[in-house]
Amino acid sequence: MSARPSHETAGGGSGRAPGSAGGLPAGSATPLLAGDFATWLQTTCATLWRDVPAAVPCGSCNACCRTYHQLHLRPGEKAARKRLPREYLSVARGLPPGFLVLGYDERGACPVLLDGRCSIYEDRPLVCRTYDCRIYAATGVAPDRDEIARQVRRWRFSYETAQDRELRAEVLAAVRFIREHPGCLRSRAAYEQPIRVATLGVAAHEAFGEGAHAAARSRVPAEQLRFFAVANANEELFGDG
Ligand code: SF4
Ligand code: SF4
Repeated sequence: MSARPSHETAGGGSGRAPGSAGGLPAGSATPLLAGDFATWLQTTCATLWRDVPAAVPCGSCNACCRTYHQLHLRPGEKAARKRLPREYLSVARGLPPGFLVLGYDERGACPVLLDGRCSIYEDRPLVCRTYDCRIYAATGVAPDRDEIARQVRRWRFSYETAQDRELRAEVLAAVRFIREHPGCLRSRAAYEQPIRVATLGVAAHEAFGEGAHAAARSRVPAEQLRFFAVANANEELFGDG
């Protein structure tokens, strides 16, 4: 799979559909149902590995469209490119040819966020279709944007089955491992990107299951296998090691 720099840019908005105007009322802390953990994890892995769009019940929230994010566009995203204002697009440094960056406007918002709504919703970039702030609630990683953090605090997963609880434990173990093993990610800067740590915690969670090592029938120590699982996910999803 190719590099996934879109997620490295920390967000980008799943996109508020026309008709869902407005933002989250300041200070609102009404809990939001995030679904059962096992189902969420399964669908999120499909999003991470196969670009299956995320179906986030965002309601009236549009926090990730207006919190000073820069979005990466992949070379093939013609429909989005046509509809995004040229003056906000630039070549993405450090990425393969063809990748672009979409900047934010003087509001700190995406330039096509109009009246609280995504004005190009049907053609929005892939990063907007795949972003899901529930990943922070699932991993316990704190977002680096206050407004997103407020929304994240509202999500409530359900853990009714043993599988829900086991998978959550795997994800948390993966995140802990990443933080305790600085060599997993080659660059120090990568550890400072909450979205990267959260994404890799989800992507590599299977290596942290109780039976993962035995299932691999490997003589390699479990710790080493886990290290490889995280490093490989980082390489696959973010491309820069
Ligand atoms: S393109 Fe639409 S969904 Fe994406 S950040 Fe901009 S306003 Fe939000
Ligand atoms: S911050 Fe979360 S809930 Fe709000 S628009 Fe973005 S993905 Fe949806």
